[in-house]
Amino acid sequence: MSKRDYYEVLGVERTASDSDIKSAYRKLAVKYHPDRNQDNPEAEDKFKEAAEAYAVLSDTDKRARYDRFGHQEGPQGFSGFDPSVFGDFSDILGDLFGFGGGRRRGGGSQGIPGSDLRYDLNITFEEAAFGTSRTIKFPRLEACDDCSGSGSADGKLQVCTVCGGSGRVRFSQGFFSVARTCPECQGGGKKVTNPCKTCRGEGRQARERELEVTIPAGVDTGMRLRLRGEGEHGMRGGPKGDLDVVILVDEHERFQRDETDVHEILDLGYVQLVLGAKVEIETLHGTETLKIPAGTQPGHEFRLRGQGITHLNSDRKGDHVAHVRLKVPKPRDLDSDQLALLHKLAELEGSEVQHEAKGVFEKVKNLFQV
Ligand SMILES: [Zn+2]
Ligand SMILES: [Zn+2]
Repeated sequence: MSKRDYYEVLGVERTASDSDIKSAYRKLAVKYHPDRNQDNPEAEDKFKEAAEAYAVLSDTDKRARYDRFGHQEGPQGFSGFDPSVFGDFSDILGDLFGFGGGRRRGGGSQGIPGSDLRYDLNITFEEAAFGTSRTIKFPRLEACDDCSGSGSADGKLQVCTVCGGSGRVRFSQGFFSVARTCPECQGGGKKVTNPCKTCRGEGRQARERELEVTIPAGVDTGMRLRLRGEGEHGMRGGPKGDLDVVILVDEHERFQRDETDVHEILDLGYVQLVLGAKVEIETLHGTETLKIPAGTQPGHEFRLRGQGITHLNSDRKGDHVAHVRLKVPKPRDLDSDQLALLHKLAELEGSEVQHEAKGVFEKVKNLFQV
């Protein structure tokens, strides 16, 4: 479905000033406002379209991005109106007009929904690779035991007299008739006449929730596990919120992760690289013997297939990649025989090297030989 250009939607030039945009939007909003266009889905669409255009063009950053990329900016872009870019769309409408109410708005017989919660869970590199289960504890509001969440000591609820049970009240503000969440019943539509003593009529109590969370193999930093209904309990029969467990994976002292591949640096000496060697390396899955062919160059990659991290959604595994680095020792870490051999080697190769160290050793050697 092609999307109309935001400037076209508002009927303004691309060079329009902020106040032009605002007044163009206001006109459209008044014309298509749902209060004036009951049961007119076309007007509602136009209203939403205008609100969306205004949400972007009234924000300097978003407008600049829209000017550059248009609707086609990809998943983070404007096409499809990704709510994460702009905040909850219904909230934008809600803030402006008290209209549009998604689940958050609640109201009437649906009660007031519980909030979603977020829990940041740190796990080790290995736990992310193999999966794990963790018991987490977090505070949340749960339905009060004494009143079963009704908030009422005698179980009786009265329809809210302020909003007549709809959970919203309307009042006029300039041109608009604005609907807002009823302040008396907080949108629940009902009122407690004889409040429960335990929860003071809230219907909820703060509790510590303990929960075992299963973390699948292959998760990575930033991934969310959404646990439906594990957020805060709703009020007056409202639905429970969700719990988002956000994964944070600790750094590993040797391994670096790239998707499902594990990378490490393999330090090898000059002699091992020249002559070839067999070395043992540790992967996530155990010890592996790696054959280093004679003449291997620094920077060479050894790839051990299937020794990496499990894909999140399959049994396939990534690779373990060892990157060869030349380990150069400090002269002070070498003994006199090693140094003497290196100098001999330099001599045989005809390489120009610093002779101070040799000088010292020659002197020492000569002293003993005399
Ligand atoms: Zn009310
Ligand atoms: Zn209670």
